[in-house]
Amino acid sequence: MTTPRPLAVYVHIPFCVRVCGYCDFNTYAGMDAVKDGYTSAAVAEIEAWAPRFAGRTVTSIAFGGGTPGEMAAESIAAIIEAVRAAAPLSPDAEITLEANPGTTSGPDLHALAVAGVNRLSLGAQSFDPGELAFLDRVHTPEATAASLHLAREAGINSVNLDLMYGLPGQTPARWSATLDHALRLAPDHLSLYALTVEPGTPLATRVDRGEVVPLEPDAVAAMYEAAADRLAAAGYRHYELSNWARPGHESRHNQVYWTGGDYLGIGAGAHGFLDGERFENVAHPRDYIEAVHRSGRAIAETVRPDPITAMSDWITLHLRLVEGFDPAAFPAAFGEPLEDAAGPPLDACRTAGLLEEAGGCLRLTPRGRLLHSEVAVQVLLHLRERATPGVA
Ligand code: SF4
Repeated sequence: MTTPRPLAVYVHIPFCVRVCGYCDFNTYAGMDAVKDGYTSAAVAEIEAWAPRFAGRTVTSIAFGGGTPGEMAAESIAAIIEAVRAAAPLSPDAEITLEANPGTTSGPDLHALAVAGVNRLSLGAQSFDPGELAFLDRVHTPEATAASLHLAREAGINSVNLDLMYGLPGQTPARWSATLDHALRLAPDHLSLYALTVEPGTPLATRVDRGEVVPLEPDAVAAMYEAAADRLAAAGYRHYELSNWARPGHESRHNQVYWTGGDYLGIGAGAHGFLDGERFENVAHPRDYIEAVHRSGRAIAETVRPDPITAMSDWITLHLRLVEGFDPAAFPAAFGEPLEDAAGPPLDACRTAGLLEEAGGCLRLTPRGRLLHSEVAVQVLLHLRERATPGVA
């Protein structure tokens, strides 16, 4: 008997109450009128994918966005049911929903828990009212605490808080106060993200005009290091570059991304990776609904990554894991030893103190965690040079 292959399902909900000035995600405000049609399209898209679920067990479903918490609980329940109808859902499947604090009521959270949601990810971002205003967030610090308590009362037993650091004008003391506040709430998981100024966003325009001055990279790095020390002392395990968890609360869904596992992307602009191919759906919700009604699918692009991209992605994604990876897993995936494929840049990174061996794994050092993207560039340039000397 063959073991069912695991599959993760990502469902993109591209709606927000308003679009934050720093956000470049595929999300839209003021589209309540299409939400019902969007739910039907997501269900139909899952049904169209059902043959590709054969022989698989769904180990996680993640509703991201956008703000999935803005959808009616019945809509989320209908989408979960469609996944259940397409393939067996493992008994311990992780079902995550992202929500903004203060926007999901107790009865809604209860209905979501009944539907199977067992992990809530709250976009807290900060506990400083001025920082929340700068970020265009619609909630208050108190709303984050209230949502977390309501989730626990509803029986959702794993709660994540997203926090942002490196905000313009943010001082170490203010970041420390936000961490204090978050830790007092005892979340099960914390995701910490540095603010990045994405091209084309209102924030980028303000930076270009000189109205907003980004923090120096060294100051941002110091906030990351301070947070890592702080969360370790509070009993959280740092298991991925941006993620910390109480034991047993690591995100199983996101680990599929970091370890090159298969996942299906449902919804407008969603990405999937299945049997070595990457898929991307059409971005706009109306185009998505129309495409699914026409053909059951809404794929804008399918790409089979070339060997250079596949190897580079594999190495750099696995290096996001704090424990690193066993180099012996590389030949199993690509048929040649890691040292043959990427020995020189990895050696250079070891010599520079960015990589180390520990427990049979290759991993980033604490300094290397700050320079992960630099390691990724070195690996990619080497793989390109190896394939086409003189072109990289
Ligand atoms: S709530 Fe999140 S997804 Fe929505 S606009 Fe703000 S940052 Fe983007």
